[in-house]
Amino acid sequence: MKKTAILFLTVSSILICSCTGKNSENYFESMNTFMKVRCYGKNSEEANAAAQKYIGELEALISVTKPQSEIYKLNNADSYPVEVSEKTAGLLKFTLSMSERTDGALNPCLYPVTSAWGFTKKQYRVPPESEIQELLKLCDYRDVKIEGNSVTMKDGMMFDLGAVGKGFAGDEAAAVMKSYGIKSALLDLGGNIQTIGTRPDGEYWSIGIKNPFNEYPAGTLKVKNSAVITSGGYERYFEYEGKRYIHIFDGTTGHPVENEILSATAVGESGTYCDALSTSLFVMGTQKSIDFWKKYRDFDFIIITDDGKLYITEGIAGNFTLNPEAGISEMITVTG
Ligand code: AMP
Ligand code: MG
Repeated sequence: MKKTAILFLTVSSILICSCTGKNSENYFESMNTFMKVRCYGKNSEEANAAAQKYIGELEALISVTKPQSEIYKLNNADSYPVEVSEKTAGLLKFTLSMSERTDGALNPCLYPVTSAWGFTKKQYRVPPESEIQELLKLCDYRDVKIEGNSVTMKDGMMFDLGAVGKGFAGDEAAAVMKSYGIKSALLDLGGNIQTIGTRPDGEYWSIGIKNPFNEYPAGTLKVKNSAVITSGGYERYFEYEGKRYIHIFDGTTGHPVENEILSATAVGESGTYCDALSTSLFVMGTQKSIDFWKKYRDFDFIIITDDGKLYITEGIAGNFTLNPEAGISEMITVTG
């Protein structure tokens, strides 16, 4: 599935490359995924190299597994409070504000629980309920206090920025590119898309939306200056006794999310916000996601559910073309 989505992006990229203007493309691995950054115009090579370098530095700062990272130090510190960089503190504050806003659907403190299920080391298991309940006591995001760049949390708590890190990287890398004067770029950070401006020929970018049903993209979305970020239950999971357990967790139960959503895509200007949202919408389920969107109206979404329906908000519905081969039975435009 993933391969096809990448292939699809590559195909649309080939079309894009036929446009005028100097361009540069870099492929690399970071944040446990493959990344591709491409930009157009003067300084494109320098801008790409700087963006790639920046993403590497960011990973070193916020990785939950790299012992040199600030998050690792925070998670493994004996005594509190811990002083972190301005950048890390800012991202932690933003993430916690999104936890408040989503009423805990986004919870960056679930690491003790997700580790117990084996998602961090790929040693999967279904923990006993008593263990889950015990660990949940260490997962309350309201137990984190941040003053300035100083972070205090209850002993045993652990941060995991997996739900927002790639979106943040997209925002920041785009800013690096812009500092080189770049006005047209496409960043594909493991399927999380960030665009700068339009294609060099002035057309919108065509982004393939991943399809949980088969190898064909669900459709294409035309965007400019936007992030397009998807959370999918099919991305990482294990099966035990005929049941599927996915990598996105419900912080109220300490279990992997089980609802009708197969994939949730958030679309908006900020990659960090959209990444936080894609995970949150997935956890909330379709109806709560619609209510949330109606309340805030500062992003758009595409949600695909297990009954073959695709929900799309009115702000982007006109820019989306459904793929007839996607296996989607109905497209529902969500209006305010
Ligand atoms: P994403 O692919 O952006 O939806 O992020 C999923 C990742 O975020 C998982 O692999 C976990 O590391 C982490 N995670 C899982 N459930 C949650 C949750 N409810 N809130 C925040 N982070 C989560
Ligand atoms: Mg996310």
